[in-house]
Amino acid sequence: SGPELASVVLGGTVDVLDFPKPGIVFKDLMPLFADGAAFRRVVDGVIEHFGRESFDVVAGVEARGFVVAAAVAYATGVGVVPVRKAGKLPRKALSATYELEYGEATLEVHEDAFVAGQRVLVVDDVLATGGTAGAALELVERAGGTVAGFTVLMELGFLKGRERLAPRPVHAMLTV
Ligand code: AMP
Repeated sequence: SGPELASVVLGGTVDVLDFPKPGIVFKDLMPLFADGAAFRRVVDGVIEHFGRESFDVVAGVEARGFVVAAAVAYATGVGVVPVRKAGKLPRKALSATYELEYGEATLEVHEDAFVAGQRVLVVDDVLATGGTAGAALELVERAGGTVAGFTVLMELGFLKGRERLAPRPVHAMLTV
């Protein structure tokens, strides 16, 4: 159930104060990934929420999004596409630059990563301001995909990231 899954996410998360810079509370979900039973439950929870017929491919945002995206893809029998940080992809890529709290960042995807009209489930670990997710969604659409939805394990609700992704469906297992 939803509340049970939220408690699994909460139980697998460690708050790290002042990382990567002063004033930020970093939500470390690596203990959740390292717990086999908890990891399986959250991956199954993502699939149950969207339904395995609602997407054709999964896109994971570097780097922690890769972990969940690959598991969802394997369990549903679809492929996985990496959305990478700038300069990592070997072939011709599309780029989207977005604002961070300090400065900016760029995400990239291979220009031929998606078949036209393919329904893409975009996966990351944490939704904060929505800048990262917004850039990933822009890249999927420019590469010809259709965004079936965005899923994160944890959403920092006070940053209102989901407002930047409207009207696309956004699912967070736990909102804090
Ligand atoms: P944002 O673009 O602001 O929505 O930030 C989301 C991206 O940065 C995701 O890829 C997260 O993994 C990471 N991130 C941002 N804030 C945090 C946080 N407080 N704890 C853990 N990861 C975060």
